[in-house]
Amino acid sequence: MKKVQGNDSFQRINYLYQISKLIVKTHPALSSYYGNLMVNVAKKNVLKMHPDIKRQICKKCRCTLILGQTATMKIKHKQKHKTVEWTCNTCNSKKCFLANGKKEPLWLERPEAVVEVINLD
Ligand SMILES: [Zn+2]
Repeated sequence: MKKVQGNDSFQRINYLYQISKLIVKTHPALSSYYGNLMVNVAKKNVLKMHPDIKRQICKKCRCTLILGQTATMKIKHKQKHKTVEWTCNTCNSKKCFLANGKKEPLWLERPEAVVEVINLD
């Protein structure tokens, strides 16, 4: 069986992500700490976090962003594009993403992003 590179670290990131999301309502500072750990684990092991997970972490305080609890969301029209703007309630920093209907898919959504499929059975 082929070993997946960075498998332990992916599991650790997954665990930290779940904890961070679970406790953000009661302990936002602890959530930021776990978010920070997640980013550091990914950086140290040169791994890429999935964009869906990465987008849920505030880029400044690294708190988990949950709509209506720790973040507010606005849809804006910038020139021809619709963008979604997330504002962190803890540190007031903003994140912008292109809304659906975008022309360019994310790199991970493209077929050429899949190099190899490894079955763990
Ligand atoms: Zn923040």
